[in-house]
Order: sequence, then structure tokens, then C-alpha cells
Amino acid sequence: MGLIDIKARIAKAEKLAGRAPGSAQLIAVSKVQPNARVEAVLEAGHRLFGENKVQEAAGKWPAFQERFPDAEVHLIGPLQSNKARQAMQLFSAIHSVDRPKLATTLARLAQELGQCPDLFVQVNTGEEEQKAGILPAEADAFIKEVRDLDLPLKGLMCIPPVDETPSLHFALLGKIAARNGLEGLSMGMSSDFEEAIALGATHVRVGSAIFGERDYS
Ligand SMILES: *Cc1c(COP(=O)(O)O)cnc(C)c1O
Repeated sequence: MGLIDIKARIAKAEKLAGRAPGSAQLIAVSKVQPNARVEAVLEAGHRLFGENKVQEAAGKWPAFQERFPDAEVHLIGPLQSNKARQAMQLFSAIHSVDRPKLATTLARLAQELGQCPDLFVQVNTGEEEQKAGILPAEADAFIKEVRDLDLPLKGLMCIPPVDETPSLHFALLGKIAARNGLEGLSMGMSSDFEEAIALGATHVRVGSAIFGERDYS
């Protein structure tokens, strides 16, 4: 299956970059995939998954987690403030913190719940109108805001524009993280995760290369 091949390619990319084995974690992006495919990857022993919608994750992961209690899910898609509470209970990390209102909501809920998932600030490195994320020029100030709220900020995330060289975006994200003392870098998908690992990715988000194409019909 795709999982074994992708794991081998990750190990090779880590080695080529002179990085420790396992320093780039694989998030298997299971959104839209049929349950049987997700189950096969769980049966193969993989435990870290990514979903981009709160509702969809809530509909399938509690049942999987009854059978595989150590399975973890990260939210990699946009989060509305009114779904923040549910998201904080479902996910062990949220990669899409992208605006002050969401950060203050997460901080309030963290106080109330006494826990908070690991957080990543999403940066809109391509400055695309339609894409979520804080603009690069506003990233340092926003990172400080998130930290001042005492939130567990682990790193940054980006989704490069489809028609541009992803490496430039990975390098920019790495630069913003480094100057802010952040170690986590959530970057790289099916088509470019090896380049992302070469540029320091700590979390690669790979969907179709593991599970097969998504069927949205
Ligand atoms: C769907 C998705 C992925 C996985 O994309 P593939 O091309 O299938 O690997 C990665 N990151 C985000 C944010 C996604 O929404």
C-alpha cells in the first residue's frame, strides 16, 4: 500500500537532509476517504491522521478511536470560532490558527477545559486572496499575540500556491519560524513532501499518495 512506500521515501529524505530518523512526522490525511481505506492504514499500525473539517472528523474518529485508542487526529483545515470547543476535544493539534479572534477563543476555552491541543499558526505565504492564513508581514506580531495568550504554540503551517515552486514557500516559512524560535514546521503534501523535509518540515501532510485519489462525487 501507499503507506509503506511513503514511509520509505520520508526516511530517505530525512537521511539525505542529514536529519534524525522520525524527525519528520507523517500525518496521513484521511479526509473524504472511505472508512475501509482509513481502517487499512490503522491496521497497518499508523496512528497519526489529519482531517480538514470538524464535522467530518467528529463523524468518524470517535468510533475509530474506540478500536485504536492511541490514534491521534490533527485539524489541518480552517476553524470557525463556534466550532473551537468541539475541535479542542477532538484533535491533538490544530494547524490552522490564523486570526486574533480564533486565538482569543482558544485561550478562553483552554482556561475552561484545562487543556489545549498543540497549535500551529497558518501563514499565507503566497498572499493568496482565497486562502486562509496570516500574511507573512503580520506573522511576527500574530505569533507574539498567540504566545502572550499562553497558548501552546508549536510551529507554523503553510499551503503553497498550486502554480508556484513549493520550495520557496517552505523556505520562507522556515525563516519566519527560525526568527521566532519556533521548531514545528507543518509543510509538504503528496507532491512535495520530500522537498519540505529537505527544508526542515517536522510534519508532512500526505493524503492521496497514501490512500489513493479522493472521490468528491
Ligand atoms: C487535503 C490536504 C492535504 C493532503 O493533500 P494530498 O495532496 O492528498 O496529499 C494536505 N494539507 C491540507 C491542508 C489539506 O487540506
